[in-house]
Amino acid sequence: MARLLATLLRSSRAAVPSARPLYSRGYSVASGGADYVASRGPSPSEGAVPNAIRSVVEPSELETRQSRSELSIGRQGIRIPTGKGDISALHYLLRDSCKCPQCIDQYSKQRKFRMSDIPTDIKPRSTEWDGSILKVQWENDIPGFDESHTSTYTLDELRNPAANYSYHSTGRKRKRLLWYNWFKHRFVSYEEYMYDDKVFSSAMRNLAQTGLLFLKDIPDSRTEVEKIATRMGPLRNTFYGPTWDVRTVPEAKNVAYTNQFLGFHMDLMYMNEPPGYQLLHCLQNSCDGGESLFADSFAVARQLSIDDPEAFQALCKLRLSYEYNHQDDVYSNDWPVFQTYMDEHTQQRRLMHANYSPPFQAPMHGQRRPFNRTVAEMRALDKFAKMLEEEKYIYELKLNPGECAIFENRRVLHARRQFNTATGQRWLAGAYVDEDALLSKFATSARKYPYMWRDSPNKPYRGGAADQEGEDPSLNDGTSKE
Ligand SMILES: [Zn+2]
Repeated sequence: MARLLATLLRSSRAAVPSARPLYSRGYSVASGGADYVASRGPSPSEGAVPNAIRSVVEPSELETRQSRSELSIGRQGIRIPTGKGDISALHYLLRDSCKCPQCIDQYSKQRKFRMSDIPTDIKPRSTEWDGSILKVQWENDIPGFDESHTSTYTLDELRNPAANYSYHSTGRKRKRLLWYNWFKHRFVSYEEYMYDDKVFSSAMRNLAQTGLLFLKDIPDSRTEVEKIATRMGPLRNTFYGPTWDVRTVPEAKNVAYTNQFLGFHMDLMYMNEPPGYQLLHCLQNSCDGGESLFADSFAVARQLSIDDPEAFQALCKLRLSYEYNHQDDVYSNDWPVFQTYMDEHTQQRRLMHANYSPPFQAPMHGQRRPFNRTVAEMRALDKFAKMLEEEKYIYELKLNPGECAIFENRRVLHARRQFNTATGQRWLAGAYVDEDALLSKFATSARKYPYMWRDSPNKPYRGGAADQEGEDPSLNDGTSKE
């Protein structure tokens, strides 16, 4: 995008007051112009005013033309001044994004043309831009579209062409609020979560930012976990079933397996699409022990990247294998410990997911791995594992009956302290919901209560029903001790 904008700027610089103003329909056109890919100046044969670039304005408009408030239209693309930065688009892609009734079925919202139907040399025939609405009629439109076809774009559509822009507060690459053990996670009452859309939206905002949310005062019923989950999205079914139980009874034969300390892990890493979010609804927890532990792997990863950048890099590359290998089900997969992407805005590497689940790791000895690199990777892995044992990262609580933890599976690690089955019962009901479903829920919540979802890095939304719609509620600083 930066390159495209730069090219457009070059093309417009050449286009602004030219020696050869020509009459047109009241919009400026620089037909021809700089290539969008190659960055080159005019060739010698084109002279001082490249004949491929012609500024086309009415002579009387030359003065206002220089205010840069008008569209700049090149051979390949358009630049739209908005007052808050310009928006650039290729003609082809702008035509492609038309959502008029001729192009999009207004009920199904499905397209009635194929992208490949658009002539590659399509360009605007006439344009109108008033600062908030852009109207375009096309020269060399898709065959079958007549002269009356008009594409209309709002400023918001031009700015945010994607339905859920990944960098928005509801998107996959949203800013996160990193937390430590002193962070006060939010407990939302079941009634409000289920029946108050406003509280639900703000709870979703908390979940989007911190990856961890608690519900309380849940009716004592095994069916509730499904209701709580489906408020967010469809249940993710697995071979454990649509919902499942973590239950230990005193007579359990394999007590050693069921009540021992279970270290930090993420669920179902042996699947190609591990569940995005997990729910654990506590129905009984009267045993001694059995506390739940949570840790923000993104916070640990960030600290590691500061303390030991080489270790962080090593864990971005190290792919660990996971498996579930039983009589009737065989699953296996491998994931880098830190799954990252390049941030378009900052050109920095950022975390997309963490993938870490030691209890479910699979043998890796079949892989050809250089010894030195393996040693370096294992040192990095050990460093990460040791950091995870540091108290400052561990949020510990004993879930009470009627409480439910909801957490982002590939960010928030969970663990369980050992418990004594002789002293009582422990029963949690679990469910999963996919990440896609939550991203959709975040987006629809934001559509309804946009002020809750404004980007406010490092600050959690803690508003309740008392907040006035449209106002930016005061925000507690989640990074300070409460
Ligand atoms: Zn259209």
